[in-house]
Amino acid sequence: MDAQFDIGIIGGGPAGSTMASYLAKAGISVAVFESENFPRDHVGESLVPATTPVLVEIGAMEKMEKAGFPKKFGAAWTSAEDRDIDHNGFRGLTHDFRAAEILFSERDQEGVDRDHTFHVDRSKFDLILLKHAEELGAKVYQGVRVGKVDFDGELPVIEAKMAGQKVHVPVRMVVDASGRRTMLGSQEKFKVADPVFNQYAVHTWFDGLDRKALAVNKDQADYIFIHFLPVSDTWVWQIPITETVTSIGVVSQKARFREYEGDRKKFFWETVASRPELLDVLKNAEQVKPLKTEGDYSYGMRQIAGDNFVLIGDAARFVDPIFSSGVSVALNSARIASQDIIAAVQAGDFSKPRFARYEEKLRRGVRNWYEFITIYYRLNILFTAFVQDDRYRLDVLKMLQGDVYDDEEPKALSAMREIVEAVEADPGHLWHPYLGDLEAPSAKPNF
Ligand SMILES: Cc1cc2nc3c(=O)[nH]c(=O)nc-3n(C[C@H](O)[C@H](O)[C@H](O)COP(=O)(O)OP(=O)(O)OC[C@H]3O[C@@H](n4cnc5c(N)ncnc54)[C@H](O)[C@@H]3O)c2cc1C
Repeated sequence: MDAQFDIGIIGGGPAGSTMASYLAKAGISVAVFESENFPRDHVGESLVPATTPVLVEIGAMEKMEKAGFPKKFGAAWTSAEDRDIDHNGFRGLTHDFRAAEILFSERDQEGVDRDHTFHVDRSKFDLILLKHAEELGAKVYQGVRVGKVDFDGELPVIEAKMAGQKVHVPVRMVVDASGRRTMLGSQEKFKVADPVFNQYAVHTWFDGLDRKALAVNKDQADYIFIHFLPVSDTWVWQIPITETVTSIGVVSQKARFREYEGDRKKFFWETVASRPELLDVLKNAEQVKPLKTEGDYSYGMRQIAGDNFVLIGDAARFVDPIFSSGVSVALNSARIASQDIIAAVQAGDFSKPRFARYEEKLRRGVRNWYEFITIYYRLNILFTAFVQDDRYRLDVLKMLQGDVYDDEEPKALSAMREIVEAVEADPGHLWHPYLGDLEAPSAKPNF
């Protein structure tokens, strides 16, 4: 049996289309099988600067600039006005815990040649990237769902449905970029539910929302805003989509959502109402999309590479979206894995050890995100304090830029972990009442 393509990619989201671009640029025959017809809506609208080198490398940056997406120069956090926390200068942390902000340009980042990244309407962004891959020579099949990959023969065979017909496509190697559907990870039973996180999000778009209303610094209205709510482990994102349209999402624990018995509207509005000033802002704007829910999105994979396959993007791992890491993980996992795949094609060898470097780098990067997020949920006032402390600011910013793949663990992480442990151990500690309900696992998860 001959291979119809060298590489078959399942899914044409940011991970799949970026992988297809890298491979097509290298002259490798590659096909993308995407179940939807683009453009299609998708959650995940705020990028971090670690996407920039990838977009430049595959040659898509010019198209991004032409699309006119809002520029994102930084990020800001706000919390309820009455949350007056007594920090008492613990470990030299003397800053206001109620609000914080960062500007990406404060820290140089390798391969990043500009002071901003973008907020994107994902239907447009994903279409740009998929079309770009096609222009570079990738074969793109839309409206084609992959049902199974058969690894029993000499070559992997992708089984898909095309115009109602089952087709069998032999390839030399498969890349799973099917996102949270985790096509291959589910088929091969690699998937492990996260032991700590089980969040739920309800989101929509508003027209005419006053983005400055809650901003401490009014000229930063086009930043992403994370508004903490006075409800445990619950926050709201505010992301500019166009000049006038703003994406708003409420993230909370799934267990809390269950209390609303599936009533997403009640959940959304009652949760937002815990911060009356935020409720006012939303009430004065016009909701222009139905509410959409996202759940069951925290998991890992026991294996992300093997003989004749790799998993990339959300198909490989998903960590909580609090720091807008998802699209950057999608793009960077495609970048790193494509280097191993190109070498594998040249060597004519697609065995598992060929992708060990990719697996190690991705796991290291995502582990940093995961640690950071776990600490954040456990004691989020610590995060705002660290962001503002000169000893840690650049280290925290490095993570917020998505610059997590090449170094060992950032110093700020171990300092934060130590503080969380000290606060947990002392019920009389001033910060003890601010501990969140999500317990950090005592050991790093083994996936
Ligand atoms: C609540 C929430 C908020 C988020 N906010 C942000 C944010 O602000 N910033 C950020 O960067 N990220 C965010 N993310 C994460 C972001 O959405 C993802 O990380 C990103 O979309 C991953 O890209 P991907 O290409 O791996 O997967 P996707 O974008 O999901 O693409 C996968 C594609 O595969 C296709 N597919 C699936 N199964 C099959 C099949 N069997 N056959 C063929 N095709 C298939 C799907 O149709 C889809 O088009 C958020 C996620 C959630 C849940």
